Amino acid sequence: MLMGQMMDQPLLISTILDFAARHYARSEIVSQRVEGDVHRYTFHDCRRRAMQLAQALQALGVSAGERVGTLAWNGYRHLEAYYAVSGSGAVLHTINPRLHPEQLAYICNHAEDQYLLFDFCFLPLIEAIAPHCRTVKGWILLGGPERMPAATTIPHLLCYEDLLDAQSGDYVWPVFDENAAATLCYTSGTTGNPKGVLYSHRSTVLHAYASALPNVLNVSSRDAVMPVVPMFHVNAWGLPYSVPLSGAKMVFPGPALDGKSVYELMEKERVTFSAGVPTVWLGLINYCVQNQLKFTSFRRTVIGGSACPPAMMNTLIDDFGVEVIHGWGMTEMSPLGTTGGLLSKHLALPKAEQRKILQKQGHAIYGVDMKIVDELGKELPWDGASSGSLLVKGPWIAASYFKGEGGDVLEDGWFPTGDVASIDPDGFMQITDRAKDVIKSGGEWIGTIDLENIAMAHPAVMQAACIGVSHPKWDERPLLVVVRKPGQDLSREQLLAHFDGKVAKWWLPDDVVFADALPVGGTGKVQKNKLREQYRDYQLPSA
Ligand code: ADP
Repeated sequence: MLMGQMMDQPLLISTILDFAARHYARSEIVSQRVEGDVHRYTFHDCRRRAMQLAQALQALGVSAGERVGTLAWNGYRHLEAYYAVSGSGAVLHTINPRLHPEQLAYICNHAEDQYLLFDFCFLPLIEAIAPHCRTVKGWILLGGPERMPAATTIPHLLCYEDLLDAQSGDYVWPVFDENAAATLCYTSGTTGNPKGVLYSHRSTVLHAYASALPNVLNVSSRDAVMPVVPMFHVNAWGLPYSVPLSGAKMVFPGPALDGKSVYELMEKERVTFSAGVPTVWLGLINYCVQNQLKFTSFRRTVIGGSACPPAMMNTLIDDFGVEVIHGWGMTEMSPLGTTGGLLSKHLALPKAEQRKILQKQGHAIYGVDMKIVDELGKELPWDGASSGSLLVKGPWIAASYFKGEGGDVLEDGWFPTGDVASIDPDGFMQITDRAKDVIKSGGEWIGTIDLENIAMAHPAVMQAACIGVSHPKWDERPLLVVVRKPGQDLSREQLLAHFDGKVAKWWLPDDVVFADALPVGGTGKVQKNKLREQYRDYQLPSA
C-alpha cells in the first residue's frame, strides 16, 4: 500500500475553538443568563476563559479520561466547559436537570463524575443529591462570588469565576489520540436504567463537519444560531461544535424557553437559524399567533427528537416563512442521522407533493449508512412501502454503551435503532413509529405517528398522542389522547369524522379522550410510557 503524504493531525475538539478564535475572533456569543441579564463576548474571549478553566481543572487534579459533569442551561459558561473539559483530555458528562433526583444521582455515580459544574438555580437540587453522589470531590457553582450561598450543606462548594480568576489562561491544549473519549451522554432510560453513550474526539469532529453541510444544517458565518435544544440533550445536537467551526454567531436562551422569551431574544439578536424538539416550537408559534407577531430574521429551523407534525411544518413555512428541516437521530448517533430536504427534481412538483417529501425524516448524511430489515433480519427494498426495523452504522454511531451496559448491542456490525421505517427509491427515510410504540391490532401493525399527525392537523387540536390499549378481540386498539387549543370546542365524533378517508378503516382510533396536557419528559418529548400506564385499564367502547 502506498501511503499518502499528508500531515497526520488528530481530530481534536480543542482545534474547533482554536479555529473559531483565530479566524472568526469577533463572532459573538450572546447568552441570556440565569442571572437574568444578557451577556455577550466573542470566540476569542471564550477560548481564553476555556483555557483558564482547563488550567483550573488541572489544578484541581482532574486527569485525562476522568469525568466532569455539568448541570446547566444553554449559555457561555456551559460552552467554556464543553471545550475546557474535553480539550484538556477529560470527559464532559452533560446531565439533564429535569431528571428525577434519584436518576441524577444514579448517572452521576455510574459516570463516576469527579467534579460537577452547575447553574446556581440548581443549588437546592445539588443540596439534595450531593450526599448520594459518591465520587464527586467538588461542586462548582457557575457564577461569581456574589452568588455563593452564605450557608449550604454542599461539601466542597467552589466558585467558578474565582477558579478562573486564579488562572492565567496561558495554556496549551494537549495533543492525544483522536479516538480518546470526549463527552458522555445518557439515554433517557424510558425502559430500565439510563445507559451512557461515550463519544470520542474523532466522532464529535466528524459529526460537526458533516452536520454543517448544506444538505444538513447549512450553517455559515452569516448565520446567527440559537440552540434551543438543551446542551444536555445529545450535546445540543452538535451545535456547540458545528457553529464555531462555521464562524456563526451563537445565541443561547439560558433557562428562558417560553414562547415570549425565545421570540424576543431571536428578534433582538437577529437569529437566523435554530433547532429544537416540536414541543418548544409549539410554545413559540402559539405566542406569535396570539400576539400577531412575525419573525424578521428567523429563516430556518431544524426540528427533530420526535416527529415534526405536518401541521406545525405548514404553519412555520406558510404563515411565518421559516424553512423547516426535519431531522432524525438519537443519542447513540451523536445524534444526527438524516435530514429532510428536496432534490432538484422535486422543485417542479406541486406544493402538497413537496411537503410530503419534506415531512419524511429525510436523507442519510454522509457518514451514516442505513438499512431496513424484516423480523428475520432480511434486508427490505427501498420502495417507500416496505417497512421494517431500521439499522445504522457510521463513525459517529455507538458500538457499545459505557461500561458495557446492555452487552453486545450491534447486529452484524449495525446498530438497531428501535425505530420502524421505510426508505423510498431516492433514499428518503420515513419513520412509522418506535417499535415499542407501534400498536399491534389483530396481528397487524398500526403506526401511531400517522394518526397523531392527522389529529394535529385539525384546527382545534394543539397536541395529540396515540397509544395502544388492550382489547379482548384485537389484542390492542388505538386510543387518541388529545389536548384542545385554548377556547376550542371539539367532540370525539367531530375529531373521528376528521379521519374519514385519511386512513384505512381499521386504523381509526377506537376512542378519543381529552386531556389538559400530555406528560412531557426531560428532553421535551411526549412520554407515551406514562400515558400507557395512565390508560392501562381504559375500557374502549368497542371492547
Ligand atoms: P431517547 O431514546 O432516550 O428518548 P433520543 O433523543 O436518543 O432519546 O431519542 C431517539 C429517538 O427519538 C429515535 O430513535 C426516534 O424514535 C425518535 N426520533 C428522533 N427524531 C425523530 C423524528 N424526526 N421523527 C420521529 N421520531 C424521531
